[in-house]
Amino acid sequence: MRRALSTFLRSTPVRATLRTTPAITLPFMGSSPSSTMSYPHQKSESEWRAVLSPEQFRILREKGTERPGTGEYDKKMDPGVYTCAGCDAPLYKSTTKFNSGCGWPAFFEGIEGAIVRHEDNAWGMRRTEIVCANCGGHLGHVFKGEGYKTPTDERHCVNSVSLKFKDESAGGKSEL
Ligand SMILES: [Zn+2]
Repeated sequence: MRRALSTFLRSTPVRATLRTTPAITLPFMGSSPSSTMSYPHQKSESEWRAVLSPEQFRILREKGTERPGTGEYDKKMDPGVYTCAGCDAPLYKSTTKFNSGCGWPAFFEGIEGAIVRHEDNAWGMRRTEIVCANCGGHLGHVFKGEGYKTPTDERHCVNSVSLKFKDESAGGKSEL
C-alpha cells in the first residue's frame, strides 16, 4: 500500500496536481489580510466617490501618496486624536506623533486594534502597508528599526489626506 502510494506520487506531476486542486480558503488558516479583506465599514466605489474629495479617494481607496512636505498635519503637534478621513474611526493619538523629518505625519504607535497591516510588494519594494481596520482605507506604510528615539522604534508614515484631526476641546481626548 505504502509502495503503491509513493509510486503514485512520483509519477504524478506535482504542479499539475496543485493547479487542479480547488482553491479553498479556510478562515482559521491565519493568512495575512489582503486588499480583498472585508471591513466593517463597507461602501461601493461610487459611494466613496460621493463622500471623499478626489484627492482623498486617490489616496484612501487607490493607495496613492501625497507629495512629501505638503500635508496639513506633517508639522502639527497639538493635543488631540487623528481619525480616519474615510470613516471617522480614531486611529492615532497626538501623544504618539513625532517629528521624523520625512515629510509626512509620523506616529510610533496606532490606537490598539485601529490599524491593519499587510505586505505591499508594489514598485519592487517589500513594505508593510497600513490601512484603517474599520474601512480598509489606505493610510501609508509602517517602517521598523530605523533608529528613531521612540518607544516602539516604528514609524507609521501616514498621509495627512487620510487623517482628520480632532483637538481635545472638540472631544478628541488623548486618553481614549
Ligand atoms: Zn476608516
